[in-house]
Amino acid sequence: MAMYGIPVLILKEGTSRTHGKEALKANIMAARILAEILRTSLGPRGLDKMLVDSFGDITVTNDGATIVKEMEIQHPSAKLLVEAAKAVDAEVGDGTTSAVVIAGALLEKAERLLDQGIHSTIIIEGYKKALNKALEILDEIAIKIPIGDIEKPEEREKAKEKLKKVLYAALASKYVATSDVLDRIMDMVIEAAFTAAEKRPDGTYDVKLDMIKIEKKRGGSLADSMIVHGVVLDKEVVHPAMPRRVENAKIALIDAPLEIEKPDITAKINITSPEQIRAFLEEEARILRDYVEKIASVGVNVVICQKGIDDVAQHYLAKKGIMAVRRVKRSDMEKLEKATGGRIVTSIRDLSEKDLGECGLVEERRVGNDKMVFVERCKNPKAVTILLRGSSDMLLDETERSINDGLNTVRNVLRDPKIVPGGGAVEMEVAMRLRRWAETIAGKEQLAVLAFAEAIEEIPAILAQTAGMDTLATIMELRKLHAEGKSAAGVDVINSRVYENMVELNVLEPVIVKKQILKSATETATTILKIDDVIAAAPKKEEKKKEEEKKKEEEEGISKPSFD
Ligand code: ADP
Ligand code: MG
Repeated sequence: MAMYGIPVLILKEGTSRTHGKEALKANIMAARILAEILRTSLGPRGLDKMLVDSFGDITVTNDGATIVKEMEIQHPSAKLLVEAAKAVDAEVGDGTTSAVVIAGALLEKAERLLDQGIHSTIIIEGYKKALNKALEILDEIAIKIPIGDIEKPEEREKAKEKLKKVLYAALASKYVATSDVLDRIMDMVIEAAFTAAEKRPDGTYDVKLDMIKIEKKRGGSLADSMIVHGVVLDKEVVHPAMPRRVENAKIALIDAPLEIEKPDITAKINITSPEQIRAFLEEEARILRDYVEKIASVGVNVVICQKGIDDVAQHYLAKKGIMAVRRVKRSDMEKLEKATGGRIVTSIRDLSEKDLGECGLVEERRVGNDKMVFVERCKNPKAVTILLRGSSDMLLDETERSINDGLNTVRNVLRDPKIVPGGGAVEMEVAMRLRRWAETIAGKEQLAVLAFAEAIEEIPAILAQTAGMDTLATIMELRKLHAEGKSAAGVDVINSRVYENMVELNVLEPVIVKKQILKSATETATTILKIDDVIAAAPKKEEKKKEEEKKKEEEEGISKPSFD
């Protein structure tokens, strides 16, 4: 059915299209390249990546989540892999590198099966079955760790000791592990997590991570870091005549400027006499005084403002004995809302007593050469801040990431108190049991299950590689040990050897992380395997960039011009 001379255009100009096997191969290739980049950063002897963003800022890290976040990934299927990493990160806060590596391996094995003429739908089915079986196996081999009641002092101490072992494994590959303050960091992480933990009916705990704030302050050393029960703001009290310490604080959380807003357009006012100038300024002062009167009238003694506070308003606040802090980040405002039970108001006129937050003490204190505001003894006792000190921003950032990892680990164990041996041990065991189980599966799906088993053995293989060991020989030896029933045999990467019981070395991981890794990796791999058509529009870049910049400004609270 030819249409003479009229080309049928259903896609916009600049759109490219690949489909069928070609599309699948290109997608697999892109995903594998990303996995290839990440693989060398796995484990305690993983190497760092140096990432330079378009502004020239540098990040040095071996944290998988950070690497994929900072990389500007173009290819759509590689982006899917990034999504998998983010999903694991969001769920359990760990295991990103492993998820990407396993997804890459699943795709690599799938490609081989495709080349042998096995259809992608069969591979997808096989992978899904293998995943379900693997999750079952994980439950079978996981070791329970009874946490007890962390509200009882003696049980709390015991729980701490147990958690430290798991934490140690989580942090061993991080920068902090080489610093002599690891023990202190672990104590802070556990203390913060316990503070923010809520007991669930089944006796496990839910750690409210959003109650925990990490505040970084350059200067001093890591050993000067501390835990504060409450919220710490990297701000000073705005006016010298204000109180530095307020007990039984009634806090107004204001998301509105305490200043006369300058009009966006340039307006011209003709003033013909000095009286007019005075009248004009007096009117401004009157408005600000009214604001302050209103604030004082509901019983506020601390103002925390997301926007600016004008000099005149500061003066009136000081006269009323009200402490004030300005240009507080949105994320901090939200933390304060939760911690103090207050509500952020956007209009001062509407402020009422029930919007106020409460806490036992607000105080400005000296930290190094700077001043910070401490909001303590909050209405909600679960609010907690880890105040980090360190000599450089890079060190602080890397430590913050480690602490986040640590918090997630504690949360994961408290949520599902079961652990498995790391160092590739659990992967070897799951792979072995999967292979045995595969024999019960008829047809070509069996090949996919075997491929799945092989793919998860990538983890011990890479760990061996980072330790400078012979990969193949290591895998063979581990297979033998596991066949003999040594289910915790893995790679001791620190000493570059195969070790029969990783539990003895304290290389332990929450089972929930391993489950999430396998789920996300399988999901991504099967999603990519399902695609047989890629229709790509011509890129639009500028707009996206602008949007991101705008978002950043809002978060920093600098969207208004300031006259500091
Ligand atoms: P991910 O982003 O996947 O969490 P990591 O860099 O944190 O990647 O590495 C985690 C892997 O390193 C896990 O498989 C863990 O068992 C392993 N691992 C951690 N510490 C050790 C150790 N001391 N010896 C061997 N393997 C270890
Ligand atoms: Mg990790």
